[in-house]
Amino acid sequence: MRIIDLRSDTVTHPTAAMREAMAQAPVGDDVYGEDPTINELEERAAALLGKEKGLFVPSGTMGNCLAVLAHTQRGDEVILEAESHIYFYEAGGMSALGGVQPRLVKGQRGILDPADVEKVLRPADMHFPPTRLLCLENTHNRGGGAVTPLDTLERLKALAEREGLTVHMDGARIFNAAVSLGVPVQDIARHADSVMFCLSKGLAAPVGSMVVGSAEWMPAARRYRKMLGGAMRQAGIVAAAGLVALDSMVDRLAEDHENAAFLARELSRLDGVRIDVEAVETNIIFADVSPSGKTAADVASGLRECGVLCNAAVEGRLRLVTHKDVNRKDMETAIQAFASVIA
Ligand SMILES: *Cc1c(COP(=O)(O)O)cnc(C)c1O
Repeated sequence: MRIIDLRSDTVTHPTAAMREAMAQAPVGDDVYGEDPTINELEERAAALLGKEKGLFVPSGTMGNCLAVLAHTQRGDEVILEAESHIYFYEAGGMSALGGVQPRLVKGQRGILDPADVEKVLRPADMHFPPTRLLCLENTHNRGGGAVTPLDTLERLKALAEREGLTVHMDGARIFNAAVSLGVPVQDIARHADSVMFCLSKGLAAPVGSMVVGSAEWMPAARRYRKMLGGAMRQAGIVAAAGLVALDSMVDRLAEDHENAAFLARELSRLDGVRIDVEAVETNIIFADVSPSGKTAADVASGLRECGVLCNAAVEGRLRLVTHKDVNRKDMETAIQAFASVIA
């Protein structure tokens, strides 16, 4: 039975071109700055996002963590969206390792309203932690792959600048946002001082994420990468796949978005499934199966027996994620499986 894995875009396998590039990659000791493939990837990533410097990191979690550490001091306050990945899924690293205090602001599908951010800003006062950093997430994972509109980003950045806050963007899926908006990724990245993005999700590289930012800031980020144990040696072997990802895997994300829109539309026609089809902008779908009278966990295990894997998320919802290793025919198979499990 063919397994249709819709749990996440992290399950994508590297392409043949990636494996070929990995086999051929020139390498060196990156801790000495001597891995030519990593150097090329860092330069390419920075240029693509319109920043001065790039940093190759083993994971998105490490990238976000070192970015927060490099933007703050212990005791600072960081404003985050209440459902953000950094707050929810990164093992509390910002507090445990950075000693910073999260201040949560609820967004709409993860998208912050600048007026709500403004409300939690504190005046300078010895009683208050200094608010130093604003973290944004684009696209927003728990927000169902929501894309922050450019004008909202612009207003958030203007507010941050006015208030002396730095902006870090968790752009794990920033290329999904760029493809969805039909703009160069720079147009999104310019509203943040630093950006983390993942090579290992929809872009299908086996390992790795990038952090990009200013030349002035990058030595601090690089030092925290070392402290966290993320400075690697001949890791050009994996960075080579990242170069292929940036070259050849970005534009095809549109296909993942079309498959997600198709899947959402068809599933929403089933009795017992509720989906906000309009909200499916990229490759993530949340399906509410509570009208079927079944729990999300029951539906997920029924689907598993049909070879369709998905995550039972919170509040009776299933999370389905499209990516390059599932195609339109798989969507049709998944729809049939849903229909039989729900019935
Ligand atoms: C996956 C993800 C990360 C972390 O990436 P890992 O490589 O899994 O550590 C960060 N932010 C968001 C929004 C993500 O989806």
